[in-house]
Amino acid sequence: MYTYEMHCHTAETSKCSRIVGADLIDFYHSLGYTGVVITDHFFNGNTTVPAELPWAERVELFAEGYRAAKRRGDEIGVDVFFGWEFSIRGCGNDFLTYGLDIDWLHAHEDCDQLHINDFCDLVHRDGGYVVHAHPFREAGYIDMIRLVPRKVDAVETINACRKPFENRMADQYAGNYGLHGFCGSDNHRGPLPKLAALGLDFRADSVRAILEAVMRDEHSLHLYDYTESGALLEVPNEKIFADPS
Ligand SMILES: [Zn+2]
Ligand SMILES: [Zn+2]
Repeated sequence: MYTYEMHCHTAETSKCSRIVGADLIDFYHSLGYTGVVITDHFFNGNTTVPAELPWAERVELFAEGYRAAKRRGDEIGVDVFFGWEFSIRGCGNDFLTYGLDIDWLHAHEDCDQLHINDFCDLVHRDGGYVVHAHPFREAGYIDMIRLVPRKVDAVETINACRKPFENRMADQYAGNYGLHGFCGSDNHRGPLPKLAALGLDFRADSVRAILEAVMRDEHSLHLYDYTESGALLEVPNEKIFADPS
């Protein structure tokens, strides 16, 4: 099995991340992951990129975390791909975006300002994919759970940082609407109590190839307990989606 981290953040680009791109790749390399998709917070989220700069400069700064990760990946043999996390500003509703590149961002000035429905339509028009990250996350700053089932391609049914109940609700939501399941660690710091991995039976040459496999349901979802010695132990499904009672 080839394993991929589909959701993580670098300190170069995401204000809330505590780990730089190169170290993040070293971490996943030590665990035997095949690839990592860098999904830093976009301009409508917790970004390090100043809002007042011209668009082209902002996009270049935005790419820094990914580029640092990619350089390290090229050195040590981890496939590093580009994506981003689009947010409804201030609402805590987040959408992982895959299959479009830095040039696409350059060509779509102010796309961070789009309504979520229009953003999803634009991404799809250009061959990209949108995955709803942790749709049932609960937190003090989130005023509502907001679902857009007709606009997303997949749902993060396993987020390594969310509670079993939140993942269980996400899994039921995906099942009810026939949306593909997806997983990510939402990693902001390297070692976490749990880690997610998306599994494929082939080595993907692009992030688009990963998403195409997801659309065909030719992927597997995994959650691992991360032990102090650095070993990964697979968490069984009944524990991932444990009943809250
Ligand atoms: Zn963050
Ligand atoms: Zn995230």
